[in-house]
Amino acid sequence: MKIATQNACKLCTPLGASLAYKSVKDCIPLLHGSQGCATYIRRYTISHFREPIDIASSSFTEDTAIFGGQKNLFLAIDNITSQYEPRAIGIASSCLSETIGEDVSRLLDLYRKERPDAPLLFQVSTASYKGTHRDGYWNTVAAIIEGVRILPSEADDTPLVVTPGLISPADLRALQIILKKYVDFPLILGDYSETLDGGSWDDFKKIPPGGTSIETLAQVWDAALSIDFTFEWNKGGSYNLSKEGETKRYSIPMPIGVELTDRFHLLLSEHTEKKIPKDILQARSRLLDAYTDGHKYCFGKRVVLYGEPELVYSLAMFMEEIGMIPVLCATGSKDSAFKEKLLNDLRFHKDIRIEHDFDFEDLEQTLESVQPDLIVGNSKGFKMSKNLGIPLIRLGFPVHDRFGAARIRLLDYEGTMELFDRIINAILEVKQSTSPVGYSYQ
Ligand code: SF4
Repeated sequence: MKIATQNACKLCTPLGASLAYKSVKDCIPLLHGSQGCATYIRRYTISHFREPIDIASSSFTEDTAIFGGQKNLFLAIDNITSQYEPRAIGIASSCLSETIGEDVSRLLDLYRKERPDAPLLFQVSTASYKGTHRDGYWNTVAAIIEGVRILPSEADDTPLVVTPGLISPADLRALQIILKKYVDFPLILGDYSETLDGGSWDDFKKIPPGGTSIETLAQVWDAALSIDFTFEWNKGGSYNLSKEGETKRYSIPMPIGVELTDRFHLLLSEHTEKKIPKDILQARSRLLDAYTDGHKYCFGKRVVLYGEPELVYSLAMFMEEIGMIPVLCATGSKDSAFKEKLLNDLRFHKDIRIEHDFDFEDLEQTLESVQPDLIVGNSKGFKMSKNLGIPLIRLGFPVHDRFGAARIRLLDYEGTMELFDRIINAILEVKQSTSPVGYSYQ
């Protein structure tokens, strides 16, 4: 019987929180816990995005763990404020501060009373033993929405709000361009496209430029329409908008593949009363043409998928669309809805394995029985792919043993096209390198 996770197929919850906080302009993430946690998050984030990232820590020590971290937390906020002059500080708890039962929101109320001119303080509870980086991200987006509620909204337009989940900066930029074809004021929650994939600077900047200002974020409460790329209705960042405000909210899958991307554009078109733009339809047509050209290579190939539930769900739907068999769909998240939803929505493959709360040990053992031709997931599957000699297509988070993770595209018709090309080329590469007669072209 398995008694512990071995090589987790998930990352730590405050890591997801830190990524969401990096989407706020002039905001510094602060981890309330030990220095090692902040270092671990920095290391993973830097190796994926290849950008410097500051994550502050309240530096728990042995006595803090026993007597509580109020002094450390207050000092950390004071230091960040004086050194960085941020507009906001995003506080996330760690396993340690959660385990000792630290009441961070009470401490922050105290701090605000003592220092009324403090920056805006966001706060989210992110015990890693209760979630994954994906939960940290979604819960933090929700915390940001709540946090900006106290600011006056100066909206002269109602934004269209989209919360896309953990996608690449390149996909965030593409999403921004797509949304602008439908509305003047798209507001993407979690837009770290510049802060985590910016240009070079002439002068040193304490906080990287980019992100959405807290004033703009405050306008989220005026949104008429909000779209979350998640299938869990009550986990989305804009859940509270629809619960308490006038916002109409849709939870749809990440638009990967023709069918799911069609759903996204039809929703946008219906609500904005605008036709789907011609260049988008042309991209769709090119993708269909590529499917026609490439199906002979990928049809019937067996693929293993792992990663965040939203990503794996959309990838599985896409794989079925291109004739591949998603023989194993796994996530490290504890999320039974994932299995139910996927089994319900897949059309042709009802007898595949769908697993949640899975680790890489489980994955590697299962791989031998499902005999895949291809593995699709983050870089943490490299050892497994090498041991079994099955190619790994790297996507998701983290991709830290290849260059250009920030520019991996998946979303919409053009992102799908890039993924489709990678899949076909990986299959061709295997064919070429294993052919006894010298495969050149077909
Ligand atoms: S102790 Fe918890 S918060 Fe810290 S790095 Fe490990 S999983 Fe993350």
